[in-house]
Amino acid sequence: MLDIKKADPPDFLLEFIEEKSNASYKNMRGDMRKDLRHYIAYNEQCKSSRCFCAYCEREIVVNSDNANGSHIEHIKPQSRFPEDDLDYDNMIVSCNAKESCGIRKGSHYFEGFIDPVNFSPDVFFIYDLMTGEIIPKEGIKDSNTPAYKSLDLLGLNSVRLTDARKRVIVEIDNLLKFMKKEDIRHFLKQFPSLLDYMLK
Ligand SMILES: [Zn+2]
Repeated sequence: MLDIKKADPPDFLLEFIEEKSNASYKNMRGDMRKDLRHYIAYNEQCKSSRCFCAYCEREIVVNSDNANGSHIEHIKPQSRFPEDDLDYDNMIVSCNAKESCGIRKGSHYFEGFIDPVNFSPDVFFIYDLMTGEIIPKEGIKDSNTPAYKSLDLLGLNSVRLTDARKRVIVEIDNLLKFMKKEDIRHFLKQFPSLLDYMLK
């Protein structure tokens, strides 16, 4: 999970909220939603010309509308928290994978859900470098803890993701033999936090 520092909301969002007394995310035009998604991604979720899903950290193609693309994810879901649907800090950009992240989460949410805006994920999670899994830190491994439940809700240990992480772990290990730590970052197309964890 990325550790997201929210930027200031864009002027066009503030104007939209100010001008319409009944402003809601639902009645925001498609082109404005697209501009908003681009604004969030480029300001908060891109590094070295690559952009990443807030949850799984796979690369997202922000300009694409197809399955490799992305969508605006409301941390507190719109259906249950309509009062937060235009709260800029409640919006992040997720990939469009069906078995993980924003689409899997859907309208689910629970108090204490560990999101990438209000929490620093590295306080809660570490990586198992053998299995490619993200695991809660020692002491919070119980299946009732928010850390465990958040991983489960987001599907962050799906086989697709753990396999991809395992491949990146091997790649990083190989690159470390002849490349400086700082240079490895430019080679990797996904999982920036995994790289940070391994380079600690
Ligand atoms: Zn994702």
